[in-house]
Amino acid sequence: MHRMSIVPGALMVLLLVQWPALVAGQTGASALGARLLQDASVRSALEGIRAAEPKTLEDQIRLCEIEAPPFKEIRRGVVFAEMLREIGLANVRTDTEGNVLGELAGAEPRPHLVLAAHLDTVFPEGTDVRVTREGPVLRGPGIGDDCRGLAVVLAVARTLVTSGIKTPGTITFVGNVGEEGLGDLRGVKYLFNEGLKGRVDRFVSIDGTGLGITHVAVGSLRYRVTFKGPGGHSFGAFGRSNPIHALGRAVAAISNFEVPREPKTTFSVGRIGGGTSVNSIPFEAWMEVDMRSSDAAALQSLDAKFNKAVDDAVRDEDARWNQRMLTVDKALVGNRPAGQTPADAPIVRAAVAVTRALGATVTLDEGSTDANYPMSLGIPAITIDGGGRGRDAHALTETFDSTDAWRGAQRALLLTIALAQP
Ligand SMILES: [Zn+2]
Repeated sequence: MHRMSIVPGALMVLLLVQWPALVAGQTGASALGARLLQDASVRSALEGIRAAEPKTLEDQIRLCEIEAPPFKEIRRGVVFAEMLREIGLANVRTDTEGNVLGELAGAEPRPHLVLAAHLDTVFPEGTDVRVTREGPVLRGPGIGDDCRGLAVVLAVARTLVTSGIKTPGTITFVGNVGEEGLGDLRGVKYLFNEGLKGRVDRFVSIDGTGLGITHVAVGSLRYRVTFKGPGGHSFGAFGRSNPIHALGRAVAAISNFEVPREPKTTFSVGRIGGGTSVNSIPFEAWMEVDMRSSDAAALQSLDAKFNKAVDDAVRDEDARWNQRMLTVDKALVGNRPAGQTPADAPIVRAAVAVTRALGATVTLDEGSTDANYPMSLGIPAITIDGGGRGRDAHALTETFDSTDAWRGAQRALLLTIALAQP
């Protein structure tokens, strides 16, 4: 960033009105945010992004009205890339996984900050993604999650370019694929394992509404388990091992698992299916299982119990009929690593500091987001909310209340400037 300048008297008055935290006096972690606010160009950029909120909402709506089902984010990605180019970012590109990237060079290549939001939604192809508006409330599938994040990424990039703020470090702005469901974080996994491997010093995802800061990553493991056997007539072939009975044994065992309350560790058999008719021994049965914890060791031990329960269920069902007929396939369809960026890590302290400096309440959360992956690699990473108030995420009735949403954009901007410092 360019040199700090003296705060002119008139502006200071304005600041005191707008940022009560400054008046209250800054100590400890909140000093960074306050220090940045003393810079006239930073303050004018903050005013700029606030004034640009209508444009931010316009971007949010425009992107949201382009379908982006899992694994089919391409059309939204093309438009996002165009928008990054229009802003004037350098080296705008789409990588082989589908992530869209654009750079804003700082004085040096490092520290290198990545500011990302996810392109994908949970909604299948053919969903009506038109956005309607009643006063401050926008309604449309994906409007908050994560079109708000995408729009804030664009707003931060645009504001930095137009305000001419030159940061010491370099910033890459990203619209990434594969955050939701079976996308299994494929976008960020590609960034950290291939595209930007070894070159990211700090990672911030903008995902969610409000002003929370997520620094604990809830990991999850998801399995699709398929039990198979020869099947046959329910009367004529009686005595053969039954895949649905084996599945039932597995579900019974899983339902009795004991898990720690702290860190919260959970399990659920979410879907089951199989069989062809009531008078047949099925040849196949399947279930989908979700297990989560913010503690990697707890998740691992739950995983071991689960695998044993499934294997035991097959063995017991076969033993019941003195047969060896059943097979089981445990397909891992989701693997989000657990992890955390400690609350006293510089990236979290910076997020807390800028949030306080802007007079907002600090909430530290845990969640399952794109930041899980870098956290599991030990790379400083957090997810921040993009402002406003969201409801019914992942439902067709999703809404985004844009009242004071500019606060989220301001906080993202100030954090970006803070994290592009050495
Ligand atoms: Zn999301």
